[in-house]
Amino acid sequence: MQALSLGLYVHVPFCPNACGYCHFYKCRPTASSVKRFLGQISLEYERWQNVWEGRPFETLYWGGGSPSCLDVDALRALGRLCPTTEHLKEWTVEVSPTSITEEKLHVLKELGVTRLSLGVQSFNVQTLQKLGRKQTPQQVYDAFEKMRAVGFKNINLDLIFPPDFTSLEAWKADLKAAIALRPEHLSTYCLAYENEAGSFTPEAYQRVDNDHEADFYRFTWEFLEQNGYRHYEVSNFARLGYECRHNVNTWRMQEWLGWGPAAASQFHLKRFQNSRSLDYAFGETVENVSLTEEDLCKDCLIFGLRMCDGVDLNELQRRFPEVDLKIYQPLWERFEREGWVVFENNRVRCTTKGLLLADGLASELL
Ligand code: SF4
Repeated sequence: MQALSLGLYVHVPFCPNACGYCHFYKCRPTASSVKRFLGQISLEYERWQNVWEGRPFETLYWGGGSPSCLDVDALRALGRLCPTTEHLKEWTVEVSPTSITEEKLHVLKELGVTRLSLGVQSFNVQTLQKLGRKQTPQQVYDAFEKMRAVGFKNINLDLIFPPDFTSLEAWKADLKAAIALRPEHLSTYCLAYENEAGSFTPEAYQRVDNDHEADFYRFTWEFLEQNGYRHYEVSNFARLGYECRHNVNTWRMQEWLGWGPAAASQFHLKRFQNSRSLDYAFGETVENVSLTEEDLCKDCLIFGLRMCDGVDLNELQRRFPEVDLKIYQPLWERFEREGWVVFENNRVRCTTKGLLLADGLASELL
């Protein structure tokens, strides 16, 4: 097997808010809950240090919850518990406009954090209220200014479009406000409605293709490309060289460890997730799946097709020499006939129409 790159995700499960759409595991940050969390991370370190065999982490990602809820001492303590070496290429921390402060930003900078992801979601007060977000647009502007002032040169803005209660005009205004700040990266997620799961019939394809939601996607993709952001994954855009390495590592089915409650890992042909409790016990996972080379190869195709560069099938065959890629040929022929994918030098990638149907294509590949 080729040498894979290794990432570390730390789930910081604290947030005082309760946004209506939030499914992340979280609890209120108190002195005792933060202490218990840091204790668990320290145990993760001990548990794993013999297993990852000294392989350096190339990316580190603190997500949540809201890591910026931690006070400066807890941020420092968490930083000390994360194994970082000169091989670390990217360290991202998610921050919230309501809890990030200049002092915390200085601590993150001193720790070696290279990338921040700011939870903006919207600049529109009505949309924020409907999402249940407690912040104001001014708090976003203030946070962004502080992040730049402290010296962060790689910033992502997270945005959400909820087609059921936002007009396309309001969404365009959000995108304009976001690019006016000139961030290096933008993530734009559609508020998920899980009504179509698993039922991608030809009629469903037709419906999604004609859908109101598709107008939001099409506009976003065109508008951000026109403004210098390369569209590199269904929901992600970056200025050249600022793609999120950690997420690309995941979509390319490399390896990662997840520390903290509810954090998921993929390591040594196993995929597992810690249980959703601050007091999770090691080994008591909510998911523990052994992966075959065929499983991983299929996931490379599913997640690779969500990336605008698609999948190099020669490279895939080199990584999985035992897997018979010819079994996908009938599907490729149909996808190509429908105008969902194109082939260039044995690389398969989605067309715009195919990207709009990425979840449906994934169901078919499964
Ligand atoms: S701020 Fe983030 S973590 Fe907190 S409730 Fe809202 S979506 Fe969830």
